Amino acid sequence: MIASDELSNLITTAFDHPEEPGSKGINVFLLIELADLPVIKAEAGVEIAKLYADEFHHRARRLARTYDDFFAIAEGRVALVLRRIQNTQQIELAAAKLSRLFEDPIEVSSDSLYVKPTSAFVVPIKRRTAAEEILELAERGILQAKHTDKAYVVISPGKLPEQNNNWHIQKEVEAAFERGEFTLYYQPKIHANFGSLLGAEALIRWLSEKNGLANPGTFIPYIENAPIIRPLTWFVIKSALSKCSQWPASISVSVNIPTMLLNDDEIVAVTRDALGLYEMDPARLTLEITESGFMEQPERSLTILKQLRDLGTMISIDDFGTGYSSLAYFRNLPATELKIDQTFVNNMCTDPRDEALVKTIIDLAHNFGLKVVAEGVEEKAQVEKLKEMGCDVLQGYLFGEPMPAAEFQKMIDKG
Ligand code: C2E
Ligand code: CA
Ligand code: CA
Repeated sequence: MIASDELSNLITTAFDHPEEPGSKGINVFLLIELADLPVIKAEAGVEIAKLYADEFHHRARRLARTYDDFFAIAEGRVALVLRRIQNTQQIELAAAKLSRLFEDPIEVSSDSLYVKPTSAFVVPIKRRTAAEEILELAERGILQAKHTDKAYVVISPGKLPEQNNNWHIQKEVEAAFERGEFTLYYQPKIHANFGSLLGAEALIRWLSEKNGLANPGTFIPYIENAPIIRPLTWFVIKSALSKCSQWPASISVSVNIPTMLLNDDEIVAVTRDALGLYEMDPARLTLEITESGFMEQPERSLTILKQLRDLGTMISIDDFGTGYSSLAYFRNLPATELKIDQTFVNNMCTDPRDEALVKTIIDLAHNFGLKVVAEGVEEKAQVEKLKEMGCDVLQGYLFGEPMPAAEFQKMIDKG
């Protein structure tokens, strides 16, 4: 168990720290309580209750991803700092995973009991929110959840992008799209063993007179649920295919498909038409999807993904490891590729846990028949380890940053 001043210090560090360079999203505090513990104590006795509390801690700990922090605060009470949370959907995914972790009853001696955790997510309004304030908000959240009979509540999610509250930037993007200010950059994907060029991931850039070159992190999260995401994505698919049709047949292209469009039939028609228009072998197109995209409406998304796969395109699971699903969850997906998120690749040479995780992901993915791409490869040492582990494809600054099409063409020409 952690002492309260120690907990205060840890929370302070987590919420008073400048953003790590390149880090995505913000930190969210999560308090989880086994609300029934007093009842269990009264009915089964203190000793037995302790066994239930131990199993509760054990299961709750499994919610933490490698870069999250986990604290055991008291019997039947734990806290986490969830890092890199980018939108409210990710909080919903975390809550869904928490409830999955408690799907099965806890068995103690010959008894078994269904146990439901109660939790409160706190999204600090400003970065320098004091530890005491965060804890107090979390306490109030737990009370509110109990009173309203909810599994979890989210306190002040004001800072996270949500549908319809980013009207201003959506309008700006719409106007910029009309003016033709969006373009695609291409980042090379390399064969891990042969070092040969296999293709590129198309990454959008916004080039305006006012702001110069803007990366997608500054606008995509704000428009992902807005109507403009549809024409913008159709533009990405068409431009990427048009470019790829000019490359040698051995070079393929990947595009990012936002969450919302996995529930949209039109993506199938747009992809089919574009493949036809540019007379492209569909196997040269990979559609990168993320787990949140899939989990919102799993059945509908599955139907659409199957239709896309039936067209002959490849399907890649992007940012793998940053979400709350296990690989087993993806076993029904018609995926062909899995991309290990760069967080794990970054740390694999310094943190043995990340190294083990990367190895496990590669083996599991191979067992599911998926090709594995490592993202964010920046160092030679990472290349050596990834090759040893059997990783298939490498992508990262070491081989090339995202670049304009003309520069990528030069890379192709060099061979
Ligand atoms: P992503 O799909 O995970 O793309 C990989 C990101 O990692 C790219 O950032 C890339 O520049 C960066 N990256 C690649 N190698 C390295 C490396 O070695 N070190 C580091 N530190 N970073 C590396 P970018 O281009 O800023 O894109 C950010 C995110 O924006 C993408 O993440 C993707 O989720 C989204 N995005 C990009 N293009 C599109 C698009 O056309 N449509 C949609 N819907 N989303 C897009
Ligand atoms: Ca991607
Ligand atoms: Ca990625």
